[in-house]
Amino acid sequence: MGKRNAFLPEKNPTYRSLKFICDNELYYMVKMTQWFDVVLLNPDEEIAIYAIHEPGHSEEVISYLILGNEKALLIDTGMGIGNIKAVVEDITSLPVEVVLTHSHFDHTGGTKHFDKIAIHEAEAESLQNGVDNDFLITQIIDNYVWRPFPDGFKPDQYTIPPCTPTVLLNDQDIISIGGYDLEVIHTPGHSPGSICLWNKEKGHLFAGDTIYQGPIYGHLNESDLEQYFSTIKKFSSLFDEVNVIFPGHNKTPLDKSFLQEVIYGFCQIKDGSAEFSQNELFITYEFKSFQVLVSKETQI
Ligand SMILES: [Zn+2]
Ligand SMILES: [Zn+2]
Repeated sequence: MGKRNAFLPEKNPTYRSLKFICDNELYYMVKMTQWFDVVLLNPDEEIAIYAIHEPGHSEEVISYLILGNEKALLIDTGMGIGNIKAVVEDITSLPVEVVLTHSHFDHTGGTKHFDKIAIHEAEAESLQNGVDNDFLITQIIDNYVWRPFPDGFKPDQYTIPPCTPTVLLNDQDIISIGGYDLEVIHTPGHSPGSICLWNKEKGHLFAGDTIYQGPIYGHLNESDLEQYFSTIKKFSSLFDEVNVIFPGHNKTPLDKSFLQEVIYGFCQIKDGSAEFSQNELFITYEFKSFQVLVSKETQI
């Protein structure tokens, strides 16, 4: 995970000001467990989309559960601190398949509970490596955690065991769950096998860690800014059709004005006009509702 520990997101005022509240009336809180807040995002629509949020940890990661007519799709499995499978089973009895936006620990922690697991082929190996307690223990230190751990969670036994994917994804693959299709868009940049999932009919873009409000990590060892530029170009060609963005962290949903801000921001990074600050480790480009962190070794 490279230099991730060097950054303390809870000390970023922009990040801390974000709330898991939307100012339209399109969704409402449906359930709070010890660890998860579960929100039905589209109560008026036939295909239900739930956000499964982990607001007690500074990552504020969000997984999504979509109930198709034939099966349910779980997009990411969270940190593995609470039991996401129990949450899913509380919502649906449909068979559940998992698709991972990438292999980072905050999106793969609950993968061990499921049998059908899809990930981009570029991160299959990373998923099969698992994550050990030596690293994970550094991610649950006091100032990263704002909610008591759920019953049964033992920090000294916190690991993400190796998981073997059952499906290897590539760009333009289609995932069908009955009445709702998602196209895989390969969006490397944050990590080599990052994907977004695109429902063309509704204009839904599930964005993983590729874009969200708050600090976007383009500074990790596995990140690549040139690839990020190409990914943002893909978003530009999709822009007219996007209605709503469901990101992997912080506030959800986001409307397309955010996508516009991101596209414009990355253009400014590329042409050298973006405002930035820097420390000894990385450069931070600052925009209204997001930042982009880039390694100081990156040549622009
Ligand atoms: Zn990530
Ligand atoms: Zn993440």
